[in-house]
Amino acid sequence: MNAPQTYRPCPACEQTDVTDLAHLARDTWRIGMCTACDFVFLRNPVEYEALEEEYSWEKTYRAEGAKRRKHRGPIKRFAHNMRMFSRRFRDDPQTKYLKLLGPGKILDVGCGEVVRWSAPFIPYGIEISKTLSARADEKMRALGGECFQGAGAERIFTLPENHFDSVMMHSYLEHEVHYRELLAGCFRCLKPGSKAFVRVPNYSSINRRLSGGKWPGLRYPDHVSYFTPDTLRAAANEAGFEFKLTNKATIWLDDNIQALLIKPQDQPT
Ligand SMILES: [Zn+2]
Repeated sequence: MNAPQTYRPCPACEQTDVTDLAHLARDTWRIGMCTACDFVFLRNPVEYEALEEEYSWEKTYRAEGAKRRKHRGPIKRFAHNMRMFSRRFRDDPQTKYLKLLGPGKILDVGCGEVVRWSAPFIPYGIEISKTLSARADEKMRALGGECFQGAGAERIFTLPENHFDSVMMHSYLEHEVHYRELLAGCFRCLKPGSKAFVRVPNYSSINRRLSGGKWPGLRYPDHVSYFTPDTLRAAANEAGFEFKLTNKATIWLDDNIQALLIKPQDQPT
C-alpha cells in the first residue's frame, strides 16, 4: 500500500501553508505542522474505504506491537513493566469511567470488538471494521445496547440527538481524519450536561520531544492527528464543549492527553 501523493490542508483551520516535518516522515508518509495554528497532522492519510477492510486497525496494531516489543531496550522494558505493575493498584476501567461519566447509555466510538462496559452502563459503539463491529454488536445487544458499523464522523449523525449519557473516545480521535465533524456529532448526540471522555497521544509530552521519530505515539498511517492540550481544547470548544484535562498535573510528562468534554446543561434554543 502506497501513501497518497496529494497533501491535504490543515484539518484544524484549512489553510494550505504547512511546514513538512521531514524527521518524522516514514516511507512515503509525511507529517506536517500548520504555520497558522501549529496543528500537527499526517499530510497524506488514506480514505475511509481502505480502513474498512485493508487497513483495519486490528491488523496494523498487531504489527506495530510486535515491532515495538522487539525494539524495546532494557530501560524501556523496565519502565513498561513498572507501568503494568502500578496499573494493578488503580481502579479498573469500569469503575474509573463510571466515576467520571456516570451510568447509562455510553457510546464507545471506535470500539473494536472489545466491550469494556457493563451495567450500570448500557454499551453502544461505532466501529468502522466490518469484522470487529459484527463481533461487538453481538456482545452489546446481549447487554441492551448495539454496535453501529460505519465511519465515525458519518455514522454518528445517523444516531438520535440528545440521546446518550456519555461518549467514550479512547485512543480513537487520533485515527479520525474528520475529527471536527466527529466532535460535532458527539455534541449533537449527547444529552445536555453529559460528558465525553477523550484519550489521545500527547504530542507536546517530554518523551515525544526526546524520542523524535521513535516516539510510540507516531503510527503510520493510523494516526492522522497529533494533538497537544491546546489544539485538543480548541477542537472541543469549537464543537461547543467545555474542556477539562483529567491529567493536568502530570500532562507534560504524560504520553497521553486525557480530558472530559462537557456539553453545557443550558442549550440555546
Ligand atoms: Zn491550521
